Amino acid sequence: MTLPPFVRRHIGSLATPGADAAGATMLAALGLDSLDALVNAAVPASIRLDRTLDLPAGRTEEEVTATLREIAGMNTVRTEMIGLGYHPTVTPAVIRRNVLESPAWYTAYTPYQAEISQGRLEALLNFQTVVSDLTGLPVAGASLLDEATAVAEAILLMRRAVKGRADGVVVVDADCLPQSIAVARGRAEALGLPLVVADLTGEGGLDAVEGDVVGVVLQAPGASGAVRDLAPLIAQAKARDALVTVAADLLSLTLLTPPGEQGADLAVGSAQRFGVPLFYGGPHAGYIAVRSGLERTLPGRLVGVSVDADGATAYRLALQTREQHIRREKATSNICTAQALLAIVASMYAVYHGPGGLREIAERVHSRAVALADGLRAGGVEVVHAAFFDTVLAHVPGRADAIVAAAAERGINIFGRDADHVQVACDETTTPATIALVLEAFGAGVASETEPTTSALPEALRRTSEYLTHPVFHAHRSETAMLRYLRALSDKDLALDRTMIPLGSCTMKLNATTQMEPMSWSAFADIHPFAPREQAAGYTRLIGELEGWLAEITGYAAVSVQPNAGSQGEYAGLLAIREYHRAGTQPGAAPRDICLIPASAHGTNAASAALVGLRVVVVATADDGAIDLDDLRAKLAEHGERVAAIMITYPSTHGVYEDTVRDVCSLVHAAGGQVYVDGANLNALVGLAQPGEFGGDVSHLNLHKTFCIPHGGGGPGVGPVAVAEHLVPYLPGDPSPSGTWATDSPTGTAPVSGAPYGSAGILMIPWAYIALMGPDGLTAATASAVLTANYVARRLADHYPILYTGPGGLVAHECILDIRPLTAETGVTAEDVAKRLMDYGFHAPTLAFPVPGTLMVEPTESEDLAELDRFVDAMIAIRREIQDVADGRWSAAESPLRGAPHTAASLIADEWTHAYSREEAGYPLPSLRAGKYFPPVRRIDGARGDRNLVCSCPPIEAYAEGAL
Ligand SMILES: *Cc1c(COP(=O)(O)O)cnc(C)c1O
Repeated sequence: MTLPPFVRRHIGSLATPGADAAGATMLAALGLDSLDALVNAAVPASIRLDRTLDLPAGRTEEEVTATLREIAGMNTVRTEMIGLGYHPTVTPAVIRRNVLESPAWYTAYTPYQAEISQGRLEALLNFQTVVSDLTGLPVAGASLLDEATAVAEAILLMRRAVKGRADGVVVVDADCLPQSIAVARGRAEALGLPLVVADLTGEGGLDAVEGDVVGVVLQAPGASGAVRDLAPLIAQAKARDALVTVAADLLSLTLLTPPGEQGADLAVGSAQRFGVPLFYGGPHAGYIAVRSGLERTLPGRLVGVSVDADGATAYRLALQTREQHIRREKATSNICTAQALLAIVASMYAVYHGPGGLREIAERVHSRAVALADGLRAGGVEVVHAAFFDTVLAHVPGRADAIVAAAAERGINIFGRDADHVQVACDETTTPATIALVLEAFGAGVASETEPTTSALPEALRRTSEYLTHPVFHAHRSETAMLRYLRALSDKDLALDRTMIPLGSCTMKLNATTQMEPMSWSAFADIHPFAPREQAAGYTRLIGELEGWLAEITGYAAVSVQPNAGSQGEYAGLLAIREYHRAGTQPGAAPRDICLIPASAHGTNAASAALVGLRVVVVATADDGAIDLDDLRAKLAEHGERVAAIMITYPSTHGVYEDTVRDVCSLVHAAGGQVYVDGANLNALVGLAQPGEFGGDVSHLNLHKTFCIPHGGGGPGVGPVAVAEHLVPYLPGDPSPSGTWATDSPTGTAPVSGAPYGSAGILMIPWAYIALMGPDGLTAATASAVLTANYVARRLADHYPILYTGPGGLVAHECILDIRPLTAETGVTAEDVAKRLMDYGFHAPTLAFPVPGTLMVEPTESEDLAELDRFVDAMIAIRREIQDVADGRWSAAESPLRGAPHTAASLIADEWTHAYSREEAGYPLPSLRAGKYFPPVRRIDGARGDRNLVCSCPPIEAYAEGAL
């Protein structure tokens, strides 16, 4: 078979000179003579797909780029003044090229291994500082998925934080963003949480709402552009013991009193306009900040400050115990992958501009809006709100459509709110010439030649407090300094551009440059999610083709790319199951409200089930790692008609192709339940088997795993939901303002993201991957992923027990190394091995998931034989060091394993007190002489950081005083 040329770039074992020899070496180690033989031995015949995927043949990189240019050419970029939470912005070129387009940043993994992630952790801490300072609240998280989901998370947080008062209502002000209201409604409805949307800006404010109010959500400025004094409403809420969330525009907070100072308990929003392109809706970083006392209930990740073994300041993820991977269905949220890369871009925008620069941008944006309002009034148009920041709402009885059309003729998109109202949002890129064109569209004559001197911000609401006083927001103003800061940070980190990252379940494969490039093209980057659909014809084609291809790959009837992470795909899929059961349940019958989840499942599964109001019942694991069929039968017998679904992962997170998966599916179907197949491990299935064919009713995929979207240091992601025919009516609905730009989505189910196509701006990556590989290339990639995993497993089997194997003693695309027997014998832990790998220049495999005390290795097809051997050699050398402990050469505590990782400073210190030599610590293998990576900090004390929680850039004095 001749494979498309890109396949030999993507699959490591096919890429090396003497490629066939590399593959043959690996196969020979397994005693096999062909990839087909391997696949036949490893993958159960009962699930094998008996045909080639019906996808276009693989194309060259040049052809794919040319086609993407053609698709981009079908989009029309207009001056986007629709606003509603999405604003054009200037991504400083130094940030675009050296963060957004830099593999050192975008190929990094989530910073769970903190010692090799100090650069991105510092950048995320800067993000938290920006959010915390601007909102006036002390603790901010390291990003959420978008503004609409952040509002939904805040509502659930408020509901959890107010104990008792089960019937308490959350009130959402009607001037919140329409997409936030739509997403929040869905989330509340799924849990049966009372939620009321009310106009709180009218007479009486919150007093107009009856009943027990536990939480209030306000928008600042309002979706209509109005700037209001929220203090009276917040006081009314406090008087009723309700918590208050303000969804606030970050740029406006450089000029206006922040929510924290007005008494709000939470602030949420989007950091998009801090240098992140519109991207037709995403990816963008959502943010959340809370007052003290609520930090332990925060959804998502939180970066904190701690110290390393030598007492140096070091960053790591704080309060991990709140997260879904620990707390499962009791977690504070199901969010796992968030928007790290975009949060980093936003933080760097603040570093680049500093507080003064941000204020200037905000003043300029405001001044354009004032010029527009002045021009409208001068032309006899009524401006509805006297106080506004960037958005002007005009009352134009009966003329809205005509004005929107006139603006469109001038190349400008504005928002027609209803027949009588039009609103126009100004931004960083708005020029006086744009304002003149908008005024023309209103038939309101010409703008004044001079910049307005007045302000439409009420004096009483002007911000007086300082922000971004930390040196980092002042030290990097020249481009030289900025460039070096970015380089210094990324140099601290180990990303895929330096080493394989063999993370089980996370599939850290090649993110090819050809796949990445189009996301910076203006024709993809600069389109508003609510732009008229005909302007996004390229996106419509791209998304339609991608959804079709993913449906073919998975064997389902339809796919929606709206969910912007795997967790959101899970939520959307479970929501579909729930709606399906609801429609089929006889009135009066007990609801199907139980979700069966195997013990080995990813924590997001249980957390997502909880979010749709399902009760989690755990199904046991059999000795071979498969689902225990007897236990499944028992649980089905016990819960019978209450069973809504089972959530299985295939191949299971134990790294084996269970040959009983069809039985599992039939048993659940026979009991009337639906089968949710978590598609995170699709890298072991593409081209070989289809979840939709072997029994799944619904799956989510992780395009940031199997389909090459980079992890970005913890996001972005795309988690499409794929469903069988009977669930198609329940795919996520349209969040855009009603009736204006509605997509032709046939469904009424709740949207799960603020934009119709979620993180549309990165869908070129999976599209390009599939187009480059073609059906044969994709299948070859899957087989090669199984080959690399089995090669590593076979070479390591004599040194570390492989916990689970399937048919023929083979694993799937990943394998679990069991460290527990060694820990019992020597005291050396899996964590010690993970940290010691850093001294060998590697990112550790997945630690402690799905089995505590183990390491899960997933090499992926992208790694070549040399890199696989380098990893195996490091693991074998580490095994020898463990043996030294067993043999009594030194104790575990005195071993280089426990001392790891070793910084350059610790190795050259005048005083050396370790039992092992400096050479053994720093250069344990001769091969490390070339291009050694030195971790910037030693092992970090996580518990200490959690006790003294510091989650924003500490004032410099704190270091000097030794408080940290
Ligand atoms: C990664 C993963 C998820 C969650 O996906 P996110 O995109 O991080 O939300 C769910 N299940 C499994 C098995 C995973 O590996």
